[in-house]
Amino acid sequence: MATRRRKPRGKGRRAVSVALVLLIALLIVVLRLVEEVGQERRPSDRFVVARIIDGDTIELEGGDRLRLLAIDTPERGERFYDEASAMLERLALGKTARIEFAGRRRDGYGRLLGYLFIDSLYINRAVIDSGLGYVYLFKDTDLNSPLIEELLKAQRSAINRDVGLWAVEREPEEVYFAREGSLRLHRPGCSSVEKLVPGRYQEFSTREDGLVTGLSPCRNCKP
Ligand SMILES: [Zn+2]
Repeated sequence: MATRRRKPRGKGRRAVSVALVLLIALLIVVLRLVEEVGQERRPSDRFVVARIIDGDTIELEGGDRLRLLAIDTPERGERFYDEASAMLERLALGKTARIEFAGRRRDGYGRLLGYLFIDSLYINRAVIDSGLGYVYLFKDTDLNSPLIEELLKAQRSAINRDVGLWAVEREPEEVYFAREGSLRLHRPGCSSVEKLVPGRYQEFSTREDGLVTGLSPCRNCKP
């Protein structure tokens, strides 16, 4: 009796295993589809801004966080942190927003990355225009994008008007440096520019001269 039972059990087990493998394969396909649909958010998609995290990060209804692309506002404890957060709160909180994505949709923290619009107001630009943040570009930023051009234009205007961060007195240096291929501006004493290769860096006599070109202040030496 034992042998008669074992045979069908073996076949049954194999059938169960095959079914399991198929089920898992199906699940993977379904999950991938769900993921793809999730990533296929088009610029026309609408989101409600549920919470302001700081001057460049918001939370959307549903829990997703959005890091505003290409800008960097002061960290907690730094000057203009409160002003930048308050500005986002005034312009965006509770409102229906549109997001324009560019390249990567999420960063390493799982946050969405994009340009934020409330009606026709380009929020990233509004922050820069008020001098409450710096344009902050990365190597994978599309420098030819009109949205980036608008940010740089707004930053030049904020510099000329001496508003927000641009009104803060800073200890000036004789010279500022940027390595070739890098988008950060440094003070001469910064470890990032300790060993500069001749001919492979740029020099600026003021920080503004460097920043208007699209460079952003190094987070370590904070020029
Ligand atoms: Zn530096």
